[in-house]
Amino acid sequence: MSVSLIVMGAAGRMGSAIARLAVESEDLTLAALVERPEHQEKVTRPAGAEVIVASRLEDALFGVPGAVIIDFTAPAVTMETVRTASRHGSPVVIGTTGFSADQRKQLDDLARRTPLFLSPNMSVGVNVLLEELPRLAAMLGDAYDMEVTEIHHNRKKDAPSGTAARLAEALAGARGWDPSGSERRCRDGIIGERPHQEIGIQAVRGGDVVGVHTVYFLGHGERIEVTHHAHSRENFAVGALRAARWMAGRKPGRLYAMSDVLQTSGQ
Ligand code: NAD
Repeated sequence: MSVSLIVMGAAGRMGSAIARLAVESEDLTLAALVERPEHQEKVTRPAGAEVIVASRLEDALFGVPGAVIIDFTAPAVTMETVRTASRHGSPVVIGTTGFSADQRKQLDDLARRTPLFLSPNMSVGVNVLLEELPRLAAMLGDAYDMEVTEIHHNRKKDAPSGTAARLAEALAGARGWDPSGSERRCRDGIIGERPHQEIGIQAVRGGDVVGVHTVYFLGHGERIEVTHHAHSRENFAVGALRAARWMAGRKPGRLYAMSDVLQTSGQ
């Protein structure tokens, strides 16, 4: 059975990549594209497909009840998407990054009554890395300092990336540290010696870099660097569509993540 999709932020870098791939997929139906009024003329309507173009999600949902919504926009917009979806019982796949702690808590609460999926990085490679890094950290042991760097294009609005924060969280978890207490997002001035229980996260911005994340394990006389390079946005779009297939008809429960999809879909 084909899964119907509504793409929020359809004129955006991610929204347009997702719409393009959805049209090419035999098991997906691109039903509606939603974009804010000022950007409506930038929305590309796929040739040969009947697609609703709307400026409000509510209007699109009346046309396609039960569709899975994919949202790559901005935190405040996504929060509104989730509230609207909640009224209709529609599942939402969230790719937006940069949520505040309060917004993130609201998403956790809303996920109990609305099927919600959130992944700050939809790439299969990054998600496998998230699963495997704690094993590496545990094997190397306490003698290795851990640091994370990320590089993104010059139009990215939030820093550090949601993925860098997740990587640091996974590393802190492997050591049994509280992630918020061990993260160090900025170093400047006379900062003194590096505390042992610390994971630095640094952001580099420039050009058209789609996304590079490196985790460093720094020991005595050696270091390991594990780097993931995203070559194009398509890899995130492929992951988002995979998550949308998995979310179709799913019951609410908790905020689902890519690890749920990877564990159960086995593709
Ligand atoms: P973008 O600015 O190119 O696209 C965002 C789009 O949302 C724009 O077209 C904008 O007009 C639209 N929009 C804003 N308000 C809207 C509204 N009320 N209704 C409908 N559309 C609205 O940004 P992007 O590069 O596509 O990234 C979007 C988000 O996705 C960012 O938070 C980014 O960090 C995140 N992102 C996540 C992943 C991942 O794998 N999870 C990958 C890449 C980007």
